[in-house]
Amino acid sequence: MPRKDILEGVEKFVHPYRVTSGKGFRLKDFDPGDTGGLKMDKHAAAELLARGSEWLAMEQDMLYAQDRWSLLLIFQAMDAAGKDGTIKHVMARVNPQGCEVHSFKQPSAEELAHDFLWRYAKRAPARGRIGIFNRSYYEEVLVVRVHQELLKLQKLPPEHVGKNIWDERLADIAHLEDYLSRQGVIVLKFFLNLSKKEQKKRFMKRLDDKDRNWKFSASDVRERRYWDDYQSAFEEAIRATATPRAPWHVVPADNKWFSRLVVASAIVEAVERLDLAYPKVDAAMKKELAAARVELEAEP
Ligand code: ATP
Ligand code: MG
Repeated sequence: MPRKDILEGVEKFVHPYRVTSGKGFRLKDFDPGDTGGLKMDKHAAAELLARGSEWLAMEQDMLYAQDRWSLLLIFQAMDAAGKDGTIKHVMARVNPQGCEVHSFKQPSAEELAHDFLWRYAKRAPARGRIGIFNRSYYEEVLVVRVHQELLKLQKLPPEHVGKNIWDERLADIAHLEDYLSRQGVIVLKFFLNLSKKEQKKRFMKRLDDKDRNWKFSASDVRERRYWDDYQSAFEEAIRATATPRAPWHVVPADNKWFSRLVVASAIVEAVERLDLAYPKVDAAMKKELAAARVELEAEP
């Protein structure tokens, strides 16, 4: 399929949710239940997603062969918004050798002994690879902001813990993303935007369904009490760090089939824009290939 057609095909799933500037950004302008006016049955959506994932697998092969660009996909969300499932479905066809998923949990003692970006920066993807951050340095301005006692564990010099600390951290994050993008890392950020009502429904399902009990965590319900604090921390983070070079996508997450389509489309679009091709074979390489053929054909 020509590149132009692919881009046209995916744009409608991406553009309404892409945020490239924080100016005037308000989370409440984005509806978690939005499905872009599409009424698709689950089967048709799964088919489309499979095509997107297949396409991505082809592109990833070229990304790897080129060894120039890399892709950093950042997933942030409230609990039960579907980060894990989205990662699983969108990346289903991609060669695991060219792809790394990092899930960030509470930091270890070693991590706490370093600057706050240390543990994330060292996991940025190598050239030609796709890196996925399941949670990321954004936790440092989300959970740490909502529960400020966590900041005390970071052992910062007191003179560097002022009232501007969150703006300063957000500026540091924006700088890191500028730096990465100038290094050839395509940074795409996804906020899976779940409604409070749908979260409750999903938690209840985890309680009701024995096979889902393992997914339930009492601490998730405790975090729900801080819903509004998280929403405003997300809003401020997106405002301070949405740029054309490292855009946010506020993905409607109440319908899983739709959020997966949006994420897959955004990735396909970004990679398509790189206009990748397999590296050209130069004259010297052609000679080597011909010689190898002669040698192989000469074998008894
Ligand atoms: P799942 O529940 O689907 O397994 P998860 O990402 O929610 O995935 P958990 O182990 O439940 O994984 O939670 C990880 C926890 O670690 C989250 O509560 C998150 O807020 C917390 N966390 C992540 N980064 C930091 C950080 N820098 N400082 C403190 N807590 C953090
Ligand atoms: Mg969890």
